Amino acid sequence: MTTAFQGIGIASSCAIALGPAFIDVRGRTVVAPLAILAEQVENELMRLDLAVAAARNALNAVREHIPQHTSIKIAEFIDAHLLMLEDAALIGEVRRIVMEQNCNAEWALQLQRDTLIRVFDAMDDPYLRTRRDDIEHVVNQIQAFLRGDAALSDTKLADLNGCIVVAHDLTPADTIVLRQRGAVAFVTESGGPMSHTAILARSLGVPAVMGIHDITRYLHPQEYLVVDGATGTVLANNDARTLRYFRGCLKKIKTRQRRLRELVTRPSRSRDGVTVSLLANLELPEDVRTAKANGAVGVGLYRTEFLYLNRPDMPNEEEHFATYSAMIAGLNGIPITIRTLDLGVDKQCEAFRNADNNVCNPALGLRAIRLCLKEPDVFRPQLRAILRASALGPVRLMLPLVTNVHELDAVLALLAQLRSQLDREGLRYDAAMPIGAMIEVPAAALCARAIAQRMDFLSIGTNDLIQYTLAIDRLDEAVNYLFNPLHPAILRLVQMVIAAGHALEIPVSMCGEMAGNPRFTRLLLGLGLREFSMQPGALLDVKEIILSANVNELQHRTAQLFAHLDDIEPTQLIDTLNQI
Ligand code: PEP
Ligand code: MG
Repeated sequence: MTTAFQGIGIASSCAIALGPAFIDVRGRTVVAPLAILAEQVENELMRLDLAVAAARNALNAVREHIPQHTSIKIAEFIDAHLLMLEDAALIGEVRRIVMEQNCNAEWALQLQRDTLIRVFDAMDDPYLRTRRDDIEHVVNQIQAFLRGDAALSDTKLADLNGCIVVAHDLTPADTIVLRQRGAVAFVTESGGPMSHTAILARSLGVPAVMGIHDITRYLHPQEYLVVDGATGTVLANNDARTLRYFRGCLKKIKTRQRRLRELVTRPSRSRDGVTVSLLANLELPEDVRTAKANGAVGVGLYRTEFLYLNRPDMPNEEEHFATYSAMIAGLNGIPITIRTLDLGVDKQCEAFRNADNNVCNPALGLRAIRLCLKEPDVFRPQLRAILRASALGPVRLMLPLVTNVHELDAVLALLAQLRSQLDREGLRYDAAMPIGAMIEVPAAALCARAIAQRMDFLSIGTNDLIQYTLAIDRLDEAVNYLFNPLHPAILRLVQMVIAAGHALEIPVSMCGEMAGNPRFTRLLLGLGLREFSMQPGALLDVKEIILSANVNELQHRTAQLFAHLDDIEPTQLIDTLNQI
């Protein structure tokens, strides 16, 4: 009988992988204290130095072999680990412990690791908490060399072609090398969707499942596994029927991906000739390449928060400008919608932390546009950079979490000031750069007309709109089951926003996850949506639906169904429209 393990799934372009397990047992080793004689201390310190040097060499070797097209700043992860190997707070302290306690280097390393981890665990910042993983990675690597084990990234390691790597944890360096050696999926006991390994797995196109406690103890080397990144499931001990089923799924995914690629250059037009814009949501500047490869005709949402994370200081105007300029150049005439800073809740920046750490309800607190208007010194450099970037190519500026029209008036006034400043400085900008608002709170949806009167476009952020309308914390797993884009309240609000845009003749797009789910495409077309923005990997799936849709008929049927919205089951609504 098949055994199933469940964790957090990281689905890449191909969500499923099958293969024999390669179990990395490094995380299992128990480190014990050993008393050493005073005359052995010198020797022990030399052992430590040799292990540190070996770890440094291994990291340098990996750094030299980073694939050129890898979109993540992998070199930076490795540099951070190299710096830790030089850090007095780690190695200096370990040396001190060996000398003061006359103990083995492994034990001293373990004690210092525990001290540093305690410091990181006490931090509120989710990003800084992930830095604790870096300490673990570096310490594990030194421990491996102290034991005389080969690091996973050691060149002597057997060929991993086709294997699923199961580990307590994986360093970014391991992840790159393992992928280069042909590993087809990663399963880890620790880590989460914010960890470096998760970021890398997505960027390298490898499915991963993280956070399955003790899985290295339950599996045997070479045991044949199925990893489903879409559901976060790892299956072991599989019978022939299960394997046949997943092999079939994998084959279908691959055939479908090949077929979808043929749609990249096809214009996104429905059967009855209605043109629909398909735009990409970007998280990192490097994602421009994927957006273009999947045929995006624009960027409907560039989340600029990533410029503020992973660093102790704030990006200045020039850094903003350099990032936006490079993206505009890469997009080569394709328009980009730059969303201003949306920090708060799960995205915190060390240099711009909410002063009151005891905020009861951060999702209802000082986040996004509220935070920016309260801290104009932080907001201004970004606005100036966006204005300057607008001289280089088609740029739209988008404001997150708008609730009141006063917020829009305040931003428009600030922009007017900044334009005058740029005029005085002789710096160029596009005076007609469109400015839009995200509709993410019920209040904004209900007042969409008033917002539309002041803005050049609207964009519906369903992720937050659903959170605030249905009163469910989008980060809370316990209430995730209530997260329902088809709730009649959500559908009515979406309908109102689209209608407000049409009435005032301004474009309305949707950039929440709902826009990238092909199950909802026909419904949204029926509601009059003509601009969809989504993660690049979903663009061709949605395009396929658009190509086969009859938009006029969908609009007609949607209007009929909406007259009985409270009486029909959401699934019935979707099924009816998806049959048209
Ligand atoms: C949204 O809320 O739908 C949205 C696109 O913004 P984010 O997910 O970045 O909050
Ligand atoms: Mg949002």
